[in-house]
Amino acid sequence: MNSRRNFLKMLLGLSAFYLPWTIWPEKVTGAIHSLIKRPPVALITPLPELPKGVVSEESLNRTAMEDIVALTAPEMQGRQAGSVGENKASSYLAKQMSTLGLKPMGDQGGSFTHVFTIPPVSQKVVNGRLTFTADYLESLRTPSVNLLGGLIGKEQDQVILISAHYDHLGIYQNVVYPGANDNASGVSCVLEVMRRLLREGKASQKTLVFAFWSAEEMGFVGSKAFIKSPTFPLEHIQAMINLDTVGNGMIGDFALWAESEDNLAYQTIKKAAAQVGASAQHTPTGGHNSDQVSFAQAGIPAVTLMARDWLNKNHTPEDTAGWIKPEQLQLASDILYQAVKILAFDQK
Ligand SMILES: [Zn+2]
Repeated sequence: MNSRRNFLKMLLGLSAFYLPWTIWPEKVTGAIHSLIKRPPVALITPLPELPKGVVSEESLNRTAMEDIVALTAPEMQGRQAGSVGENKASSYLAKQMSTLGLKPMGDQGGSFTHVFTIPPVSQKVVNGRLTFTADYLESLRTPSVNLLGGLIGKEQDQVILISAHYDHLGIYQNVVYPGANDNASGVSCVLEVMRRLLREGKASQKTLVFAFWSAEEMGFVGSKAFIKSPTFPLEHIQAMINLDTVGNGMIGDFALWAESEDNLAYQTIKKAAAQVGASAQHTPTGGHNSDQVSFAQAGIPAVTLMARDWLNKNHTPEDTAGWIKPEQLQLASDILYQAVKILAFDQK
């Protein structure tokens, strides 16, 4: 009796593996496959929830330089995507968004995290700069996370996307690459603009979505993953403004990367720079790039703002918090703030 039952159980078990994949509609198997490729959000440690409407004073009063110091601290280990350091950095950022009262805009609507996977990579020094080479095998992929939070505007479905990548290069030959300018600087400006808007406490006309991408250093893997499986309709995005490596060089001298100048994001940031007395000029990418490219390829108006001198000490262990010029950082966040006012608050 028992052995017959076990035999039946075994048959049922086997059929669960073999039959459904062939007879289930493609839609169902597709959904299962995508779940397998993208691990469930439950894998990520949930954050302590704050009571609604309570914004932490401590988070509201942080400064951009404090963010840079926190993101380049030894325990962040250079924030390589898929590493323990990335996990610590993403927890820091999710905590900031949570304690500032942002609406989670990640997976399944209730989380700040958007989970994707990265390929195995190897590290190599080329011309004195550390770089990753991705090995695009489908196997052995590692989980990584983007973070997204929103401030909902009166016109909920009209979205202005503000972003910066938070990953960097990690540790190479026992040396930490802290990535203060690349790109704790951009991240800190995005946080600074969030805090400034919340301190002012005025609702925007359009919805602002703030995104922190990971695995940019591995070839914009995080932002590409978002384009492939967005957490809200991409058609809602009217402009995407990205900041990357904004804290060094001559004060007020910035560069812009965009597919074309005929684009709302590009035109707005250029205007915003002029309004705060800075210069931001369209510049050829010279074989480099940042996450705006993922959005531009999807037909979304997108731009990246960076310091014109961004390549100096880039991808070297000397890219430390001490390399950041506070006035340049302040100007970058002023430009971003002004652009947000023009785009989401209908300011001229
Ligand atoms: Zn970089």
